[in-house]
Formats: sequence, structure tokens, C-alpha cells
Amino acid sequence: MKKIIDALCKTKKLTKEELSAVLDISEEDREYLSQRAREISIAEFGKKIYLRGLIEISSYCKNDCYYCGIRRSNHNAQRYRLTPEEILLCADKGYELGFRTFVLQGGEDIWYSDNVICSVVEGIKSRHEDCAVTLSLGEKSYESYKKYYDSGADRYLLRHETADKAHYSMLHPKEMSLENRKQCLYSLKEIGYQVGCGIMVGSPYQSADTIYKDIEFMKELQPHMIGIGPFIHHKDTPFAKFENGSTRTTLILLSILRIMFPKVLLPATTALGTADPMGREKGILAGANVLMPNLSPVSQRKKYSLYDNKICTGEEAAECRNCLERRINSIGYEVDGGRGDHPDFKRS
Ligand code: SAH
Repeated sequence: MKKIIDALCKTKKLTKEELSAVLDISEEDREYLSQRAREISIAEFGKKIYLRGLIEISSYCKNDCYYCGIRRSNHNAQRYRLTPEEILLCADKGYELGFRTFVLQGGEDIWYSDNVICSVVEGIKSRHEDCAVTLSLGEKSYESYKKYYDSGADRYLLRHETADKAHYSMLHPKEMSLENRKQCLYSLKEIGYQVGCGIMVGSPYQSADTIYKDIEFMKELQPHMIGIGPFIHHKDTPFAKFENGSTRTTLILLSILRIMFPKVLLPATTALGTADPMGREKGILAGANVLMPNLSPVSQRKKYSLYDNKICTGEEAAECRNCLERRINSIGYEVDGGRGDHPDFKRS
């Protein structure tokens, strides 16, 4: 196995069979994989971790993804949406706490017209010139993405969820398609965003084959960011009875991705921290270099419930920030105070 891992570090490639074997490695070999990935991360970024202030702007969603707790058919979901003023206040607070990237994420909520989104982006950028704004608001038209970019948005996160067509249709209702999801990612790239794709690890019906396709797709897209975290079931979704994805497989995949994409911005996600209390620390030690603490108002936090038992829903932003910094320091890393753009990225 060490031979396969060494070859992976050299060639950045794995065959389907090798991937399958690596996803199933022994604990000793996983340690080795993790160490190789960590070395690469340290060579690219030092022992520094970028923080992103996550603002969850709305739990309303017009989509009905089978895995997601805020899908429109979940009538038990509590809905809220932040006003533009509330979003700006979260960003102001985040700025004081030292954040230099804000991620605006939400369900696909049609209440936010393009004009509203653009004015929020402009508001944040004009108040905090040295900050990056990342959007994660789902599938929109090319024109809408372009407007947000022209208002100053820098990055866009849109997980592709799976690059296997049949698998995609098992996770989503028929009005959604892998084709459109991929098209959105290509449009975002063409416009000039730093783009993030990604998957849930251990989502229902996932296999080594579908993960192989995910990696092939990532190679084609060449994303600046890759978001992966374990699938965690939500009790009020069609996937309530499915097993959660494993921390271990997530860590293995983080390491593989770090080795294949040395410069990619790779978060240790909240879902990873939910699956395992030390998940985020383990994620960093497996090659991740980004953490995304929550800046959403505590009064609304619990309502952004994508999956059961989500962590960090009770703490104020400052507490989350400090808690994460302590966690980062405890494993010998430091917070990087910059915007944290992709090393090769220049906005034209
Ligand atoms: N509406 C936006 C944001 C979705 S939430 C969009 O479509 O991009 C962000 C991510 O959370 C999703 O892309 C999905 O990969 C992840 N997610 C949703 N439900 C989840 C669950 N039950 N377990 C783990 N991750 C989940």
C-alpha cells in the first residue's frame, strides 16, 4: 500500500482499483497517507489555517434534495431568512473578530432577487474592502452569477454532490440534473470566480466507482476549493434511515484530494466536526487547510438544520471563533489572518 501512496504523490493519479483499495486501507497505512498529505499542505500553506465566517442567510429552499433537512417538503423545518441589514451586521461582527472572508450560504430562496444579493455583496465589499465574499446559494443562471461577480463576489461554492448521473438521480428529484449542476460550475469558472465543488462522503448509494468519477470530474473542472464532509442523515428526510458517512473515509479522501490537488483550498467541515468531536482537528492533520466557523445569529442557527445534531448551534460568533483558534493551536497550527485566496488566483 505504501507503494501505491508514494506513486500517488508522484503521479497524482489513482486507478479505479487503487482508489478502491486506498479507501479501504489499514489504520497504519492511513496514518502514512495522512502524513504525506499533511506534508504537502504544510509545503503549500505552512502550518496556517484560513478561517471563513459562515453566514447562513436562509432556510427557505425551493429544492427538494432527498438528503437535506431544509428541503421544501420538510414541513417540520423551521424557516427563517436574514434581512440584508442582518447579513451586513453579521459581517461587521465577523470583521471585528478578524474574519477576512464571508461565506453567504442558504437554501435556494427566491425572496432574494438578484438586486438584493448584489446590494448585500456591494454592502460587505464597500464596508470591508480587504475582505473576500463567497456565495453558496445554489443553481442560478449565467446572468445572475455574472451580476453577483460584477458586484464584487469573489468565490462560489456549489458542491456537485456526485458526478455519476444515476447516483445524482438517486439523491435528487427529477427536476434537478447533474448536467445543469456541472454547467453552473463551468459558468462560474468562466465568469472568473474561484470555484468550489464537492461531495458528501458516504451519501446513500455512493460507491468507490462514483467517487472515482467525482475525482475525474474534479480533474476536469480544476476547482480552487473542494468541500467534502460526511453525509449525516436528517430525521425528516427520505434518507432518515440511511447510515451516516464515516469520519475515517472522509479523512482518507481529504488526504487523497490534498495529494492530487496540492494547492486546493480544502475545509475540514462542520459535518466532519459533527460526526466526530475531533473531526476538524483530524481533518487538518489529514491535509485540510480551511475552517468555516458560524457567524449566523444564534437565534436562527438551529433552524439551518441540514442534518441531525449539527454542532456549534448555541455559541456566539466570538465563542466559535475562539474555540476554533484554540483547536487549531492545540495541534500546532495557527490562524492565518488573510483573505485566503487560492495561491494561483488573480482577479482580472
Ligand atoms: N443551496 C446551496 C447550499 C446547500 S447546503 C446549494 O445548493 O449549493 C451546502 C451543502 O451541505 C450541500 O451542498 C450538501 O453537500 C451538504 N449537505 C446537505 N445535506 C446534508 C446532510 N444531510 N449531511 C451532510 N451534508 C449535507
